[in-house]
Amino acid sequence: MRDLDIAVAGCGIAGLAAALLLHRQGHGVTLYERFDQPRPLGSGLMIQPTGLAVLAQLGLAEEVVANGAVVTRLYGLNTLGETVLDARYADLRPTGLFGLGIHRASLFGALYDAVVSAGIPLRTGSEVVGSACEAHGRRLHFAEGESSPAHDLVVDVLGVASSLAPNSEGWLPYGALWTTLPWPADGPFDHARLEQRYERARKMAGILPTGVRRGSRDLELSLFWSLRADGVTRMQEGGLLRWKHDFLELWPECAGILEQIVDPCQLTFARYAHRTLRRPIEERLIHLGDAWHSASPQLGQGANMALLDAWALARGLANASDLAAGLNAAISVRRSHVALYQRMTAFFTPLYQSDAAFPALVRDLLFAPLSRVGPGPRVQGALVGGLAGGPLGRLGLALPDYAALSATVAVPR
Ligand SMILES: Cc1cc2nc3c(=O)[nH]c(=O)nc-3n(C[C@H](O)[C@H](O)[C@H](O)COP(=O)(O)OP(=O)(O)OC[C@H]3O[C@@H](n4cnc5c(N)ncnc54)[C@H](O)[C@@H]3O)c2cc1C
Repeated sequence: MRDLDIAVAGCGIAGLAAALLLHRQGHGVTLYERFDQPRPLGSGLMIQPTGLAVLAQLGLAEEVVANGAVVTRLYGLNTLGETVLDARYADLRPTGLFGLGIHRASLFGALYDAVVSAGIPLRTGSEVVGSACEAHGRRLHFAEGESSPAHDLVVDVLGVASSLAPNSEGWLPYGALWTTLPWPADGPFDHARLEQRYERARKMAGILPTGVRRGSRDLELSLFWSLRADGVTRMQEGGLLRWKHDFLELWPECAGILEQIVDPCQLTFARYAHRTLRRPIEERLIHLGDAWHSASPQLGQGANMALLDAWALARGLANASDLAAGLNAAISVRRSHVALYQRMTAFFTPLYQSDAAFPALVRDLLFAPLSRVGPGPRVQGALVGGLAGGPLGRLGLALPDYAALSATVAVPR
């Protein structure tokens, strides 16, 4: 199908990628976004081989890799100094794959600039509050009381709290405080590792290298601290010093890094939700990315899933003779991978974020040893890389050329 008039609601990762792919296929695309100036919210994230495969198709992989940090290992210790997480991309086949730690602004900027260069119309300051299907199309309704023209298709990529998706349940008790800080000039930190420290599953601290942000030459990191949503106020009242004390008790080597946090406003609390829409298609409406399936970022897949969804939609429409068939094809080709990762994330999240002692014991005494023997390392690598369940083949995607991409990396490995 070509020449559809498509509204993409949400100018996030899924929205920008979908807009670009659909525009390149010859559809008329209009992007709608609530902010007056579209911007990414949050700190760093991990791009997996799955997400990079889509970015490569968009011609953006080199730029994104040049601004990110090559992550070869996810490494976590408990308070006894035992290694309870050690996932290595070297265990994946083919060899040479890596994860990419990147600041959201770099990923967003690459996608956004491509959208602007393509001349895709962007309606900012448009807070979507609902939609309605009419005889000749679906309209978006905005907070100001206006409506969009009727579009052949509305793509809901409004994220975890989408106003177009039917349910808003599934908020998890735990979220995390996040911030971006300069990478320390010295210290025991490895620029190729996402590192974490755990006290059972009650406390978790992490550092993700995020490379150099677009337009900057300075190496940065994302620092995160697991926190219950109902503990945020207490943490703020307890003050920064108390929080730093708790953090350093778990990970004393971070003293120099924490000195750079002088105001609680530097820390942003992100809450997570775990939910999957059973029917992500309505008449002339499809829900993708977090609007279809959201989860805690424990396995670091949400943005990658969003990119795969966008690719699936473009491919589904390209090969279909009518709209309904195209939307069904897009969802059916993604459904099993989404279901697998939603189940896996739901299973693994409590092992890292829970008040109970039992999940951390299972993690430390069962899963950590299992991940080191037999097929364990490879299974763990595939899971972390987003490749479990073989999502790329059925989307007609290939892994990007990692050897060539490695040459564009600005940051030492
Ligand atoms: C702390 C944290 C860490 C994460 N780490 C990772 C990671 O390492 N790897 C990974 O792959 N994923 C990670 N994720 C998940 C990832 O960020 C999401 O899965 C991804 O951003 C989803 O993309 P999306 O386009 O569906 O939604 P979003 O990126 O949330 O985009 C939604 C867009 O819609 C706009 N919008 C929302 N509501 C409205 C409205 N009513 N009207 C108009 N516009 C609206 C928003 O402003 C935004 O531009 C993390 C998430 C969090 C919170």
